[in-house]
Amino acid sequence: GVEIRLASRPNGFPTQDNFEITDAPVTAPGEGQILVRNKVMSVDPAMRGRMNDVKSYVPPFQLGKPLDGGAVGEVIASNSPQFEVGQHVLHYLGWREYATLDAKRAVPVDGDAAPLNAYLGVLGMPGLTAYAGLFEIAEFKEGDTVFVSGAAGAVGSLVGQLAKQNGAAKVIGSAGSAEKVRHITEDLGFDAAFNYKDGAVRDQLAQAAPDGIDVYFDNVGGDHLEAAIDELNDFGRIAACGAISVYNDAEPSPGPRNMFKIVKKRLRIRGFIVIDHADLREKFHTDVAPLVRDGKIHYEETVVEGLRNAPEAFFGLLQGKNTGKMLVTI
Ligand code: NDP
Repeated sequence: GVEIRLASRPNGFPTQDNFEITDAPVTAPGEGQILVRNKVMSVDPAMRGRMNDVKSYVPPFQLGKPLDGGAVGEVIASNSPQFEVGQHVLHYLGWREYATLDAKRAVPVDGDAAPLNAYLGVLGMPGLTAYAGLFEIAEFKEGDTVFVSGAAGAVGSLVGQLAKQNGAAKVIGSAGSAEKVRHITEDLGFDAAFNYKDGAVRDQLAQAAPDGIDVYFDNVGGDHLEAAIDELNDFGRIAACGAISVYNDAEPSPGPRNMFKIVKKRLRIRGFIVIDHADLREKFHTDVAPLVRDGKIHYEETVVEGLRNAPEAFFGLLQGKNTGKMLVTI
């Protein structure tokens, strides 16, 4: 089956040369294992970090080895009592057509309860990230004014809708195109949005939030973070989720110049990684799955067809070609 391997490590924005598309033999499942025919896989911003050879909360991709990441597929052979042929599972061996893995590393998913794609997006890892970040990390409460960057993306789109539906005074989003700004306000129900490419984030945020903000959900870092520190009210909270504006920097960029305002305004900034919040998964599902089913949460997907186009989909994700979750069908 087709498999995509890491051919070289990028310096700056990744290129097609960093990937090798090969045909790998299919491994029969051993004792306690299953063989899965992948149907859809996720490309995630964090994969850019894993292309670098640096220590992090997940190990880097290895040169000459297939990449990995979230995927949903159908069990086509099973050597485990846990799964039957024909069942759908969520697992972590994307970037390949066929995956052989220990059954205990796969989670069954119900394609009748929700579309399979949703388990990689709104009901999956990005969904839980939004939920944990907003409620547990930012300690969102009714009456807060919330600003979220990357607001048309998988995580950001859910953050804003959850805040709005849980009594936010105002929800403001930023994104990188006029069409995304329209989408955020008209389809997702945010109160205000701006295109960060239209002018300084600080000016646009100040205009959108004349009374300041209480929570900043940071997906972007850089000038977005600096602007948010400026606009946060006393005792404001930042959920530091990601910093996609710097992921392709070959050299680290300078941090916010206004860090002292964290002291003056008694702000709290807290980073988090979704894998530490598995305990919230059940509550997240109970709360969010019915909203998704009833159409009260709007979610978009940008779907690229064909595993061979996965690198292209990944580049597109880093360039903002996606609205909502970026997926690759296999
Ligand atoms: P998205 O669906 O939001 O896709 C990424 C988006 O980033 C693009 O669509 C693009 O939108 C935006 N972007 C790209 N470059 C820039 C830039 N220079 N400045 C501002 N925006 C940019 O991805 P996810 O929802 O999966 O992830 C969102 C963030 O959350 C990322 O930072 C990711 O690393 C982080 N994350 C963190 C997790 C955790 O556990 N802490 C877990 C999952 C995600 P646009 O057109 O608006 O520029």
